[in-house]
Parts: sequence; C-alpha cells; structure tokens
Amino acid sequence: MPKTYQRREFLAELAKIPCATLLLGVTGPLKVLADDGEGGYDAAEHYYAMGIQLEKCIGCGKCVQACKTENDVPEEPFYFRTWIERYVIYEDGDVQVDSPEGGINGFPPLEGDKKILRTFFVPKLCNHCDNPPCVQVCPVGATFKSEDGVVLVDEDYCIGCRYCIQACPYGARYLDPRTKTADKCTFCYHRITKGLLPACVEVCPTQARIFGELGKLSTPLNRMMRHSNIQVLKPHMNTEPKVFYSELDGEVR
Ligand code: SF4
Ligand code: SF4
Repeated sequence: MPKTYQRREFLAELAKIPCATLLLGVTGPLKVLADDGEGGYDAAEHYYAMGIQLEKCIGCGKCVQACKTENDVPEEPFYFRTWIERYVIYEDGDVQVDSPEGGINGFPPLEGDKKILRTFFVPKLCNHCDNPPCVQVCPVGATFKSEDGVVLVDEDYCIGCRYCIQACPYGARYLDPRTKTADKCTFCYHRITKGLLPACVEVCPTQARIFGELGKLSTPLNRMMRHSNIQVLKPHMNTEPKVFYSELDGEVR
C-alpha cells in the first residue's frame, strides 16, 4: 500500500500537468472556481461534484473532443474519459441507444419511419463515487479517493490487472494501451487544483455541465441541485455517485 507522503507527491505531480486545452486555445475565458491562496492547494478544503442538466445537452460532442485533447486520451474511438449516449424512445416501447465514436463528432440524423416519442442525450463519465468499488478491488492501492472526493489512479503503482475496470458498473475505465495502466476521468485534476474548470465543462456551449463543490451554498451546482429533480445513475448499486443528473429519464441505464 503506498504511503501517504507518496500519495501527496503524486497529487502534487498531477497538479503540475499543463492545461492543454488552454494552451491550444480551445477554450473561452478562464473561470476561476477557487482562490488557492499563495499557490498551495489543500484537498481537505474541497469536495467536488458535477451536475449534468440533460435538458440542455444537444449532443454536439465538444466536451468529448476537449477531454481527449486535454487529457491525451488515445485517439482510437474506444478510449474515452467522457462520452455521450443518445437515447431514442419509440412509441412501440423500443429503446435504442447509440454512441458513435463516443459522440465525439455529434450524431447522424435518425433513420426509419417508426414513430419516436422522445430523444435525448446523456453525457457519461466517471461518477467519482463516494463508495467506489474500483477502489475496493484494487490489490495494490493504485486507485484511491482523494480528500477532495476525486477518484484517481496512480499509474506508478497500477499493475494493469483490470480488476477496477471490471468492478466499475459504469464502464468508466479503460486500460491505456501505451502505459498498460488503468485510466479514466479525473475531473481534470490538473486544472481544478488550479481553480479552473474541467475541460468538458469549459467548452460546453449550453452549460449542460456544471462543476462545483458539494455543501457550498449559492453556487450554480447547489442551485441546480436545489431546483431540479436530481438523480444518479444506478443508485441501487450503492456506489454513491457524485455526478448528478437533472431530468434523468427512467430508461437511462
Ligand atoms: Fe470507480 Fe467507476 Fe465509480 Fe468512477 S464510476 S469511481 S471508475 S466505480
Ligand atoms: Fe488497481 Fe491498476 Fe489493477 Fe485497477 S488495473 S485494480 S488500478 S492495479
């Protein structure tokens, strides 16, 4: 099991990674979330979560593109830290779900003449579960929950056994073919520890994604949670996700 000081060093290294999205000029103006004082970052002072307003998502895929760029996710269309699913609910009760290349280039028009009741898009990512099965199964302590609630992987310790990939009920992890270690969304840890937003949140043209901290009043995340019908994915799994969806349709898996 890694020692605490090693974990702190890992977090410090992660926080030093440059913000690629910013360097590439993909984003709009910087949005400061938190004053980190004199450059220090104290994980104990934060507790992060994300809200997703499904009624605002248009399935454009800009968040998927930004995430791949920002986090150097492998180019192949089966590696994603975040992806978009399109749900089509037909009048006869059929439900069709597609996610072409994770929705990175948007979605093609629907074909066929079956009557459609409703369609909607569902952005997905690691839920940074409060009770994360991926952490419980890791035999070497490589995946862990940081004090600020973010679930991370220390690739120096990961042995690539895939237990966490199998344990995650949300399909949020993959094995990076280059490093042979487990990888997934970090809420853009290298950005949020500098007071910036995750890349997917920064680029979303409709503000469907809201990033913030639990328990901090008068923030967009807490306003959304107070005024919307909030649900999480697979609540019966008792993983206690920290990605909260508004207007989640009962058909979403
Ligand atoms: Fe772990 Fe999956 Fe939960 Fe993320 S969504 S914390 S990878 S179990
Ligand atoms: Fe732990 Fe890595 Fe194995 Fe996952 S793949 S269980 S993070 S050692």
